[in-house]
Amino acid sequence: MITVNENFLKLQAGYLFPEIGRRLRQFKVENPTADVISMGIGDVTQPLAPAVVSAMKKAVEQMGKIETFRGYDDGGIGYEFLREAINTNDYKARGVNIDNDEIFVSDGSKCDTGNMQEIFGLDNVVAVTDPVYPVYVDTNVMAGRGGVPADKGRYEKIVYLPCTAENNFVPALPDKPVDMIYLCYPNNPTGTVATKEELKKWVDYARENKAVIFFDAAYEAFITDDSIPHSIYEIEGAKEVAIEFRSFSKTAGFTGVRCAFAIVPKELKAYTKEGKAIDVRPLWNRRHCTKFNGVSYITQAGAAAVYSDEGKEQIKKVIDYYLKNAAVIRQCLADLGYHVYGGKNAPYIWLKTPEGVGSWEFFDMLLNKANVVGTPGAGFGAAGEGYFRLTAFATAENVEKAMKRLATLK
Ligand SMILES: *Cc1c(COP(=O)(O)O)cnc(C)c1O
Repeated sequence: MITVNENFLKLQAGYLFPEIGRRLRQFKVENPTADVISMGIGDVTQPLAPAVVSAMKKAVEQMGKIETFRGYDDGGIGYEFLREAINTNDYKARGVNIDNDEIFVSDGSKCDTGNMQEIFGLDNVVAVTDPVYPVYVDTNVMAGRGGVPADKGRYEKIVYLPCTAENNFVPALPDKPVDMIYLCYPNNPTGTVATKEELKKWVDYARENKAVIFFDAAYEAFITDDSIPHSIYEIEGAKEVAIEFRSFSKTAGFTGVRCAFAIVPKELKAYTKEGKAIDVRPLWNRRHCTKFNGVSYITQAGAAAVYSDEGKEQIKKVIDYYLKNAAVIRQCLADLGYHVYGGKNAPYIWLKTPEGVGSWEFFDMLLNKANVVGTPGAGFGAAGEGYFRLTAFATAENVEKAMKRLATLK
């Protein structure tokens, strides 16, 4: 008899976005002519940079000629030319020293943040911020680290670190021992950032407690405040305890192209049950090269063009465009009397719903009365109840239109 992995049966009711999709479809059936503006899902809208497009075209031509054809990259961890560009521009330029063979190129940070847990023991205690990017939780539940479902969509064995306006969206250190800590800064969904001091607190905790930090820096390119670290390795000692995830998805509009990378430093150790220190990087190297065979040459050529002078300039323009949208949304909501957070170093604006209005209730109200789609905070965790996320990824025209509609609601 074939049995199922029963951990999958523990997963709580549907992923957030299918439920939003369901409500939206129903609304469209009932209101076929409504002009709905989407500020919900975190997907980009602006096209690829011309430098990326021309690099990818050139790469296709190279693949069609015997002299320049390329096959598998270095065992699936990424071509040297891309890892070198990443290292020079994202790390050396910020004073961080890493080796190219600590960089693992992949087809996405969703996969990387979801897969990385495989190389760690099933007895580890997982800590996540609440609200949280659902991938960190669900992949650990699938692996068996969640325990039984608890109320409000939580899991018994997972340690939740609430991030609310009361603590300025900065999680407190856990009050019980944890081993795997997921941090995402700039944060999705709250749009808030972590200072050097705050990250140092986590690095120190991980060093003292032999824990590992999974640092998701997918929104690093949106940082405008010079004092905010772009990489966790800007914190002393972080290479002993942290894995970093980066993606070209939000940085360069690669959500439909697919390219990302993870940094697994050579200093990082995990332990056997007997307490023997084991190097983590070779384990991930083995995992990655066994289950993954690399990102296409064409995609990696496009990703490398992100680091060319033209590429950098073109990509910055797009980021600035989204950040301008974020500023417009922030200002408009603040003028309307909402409490707003984020949106300065991130493409997300996190707002407090009006007193007594739940986040799904606010979602329905916004959809029905303003025909604007956002994301209910409760969908990201129990502590997200009473909050709502708007993204700055819409077009500037739609942002303006949506804000006019919100103004008439009040
Ligand atoms: C969008 C996003 C990513 C990037 O995912 P890809 O798979 O690289 O497209 C990673 N982490 C968070 C929190 C995100 O919002």
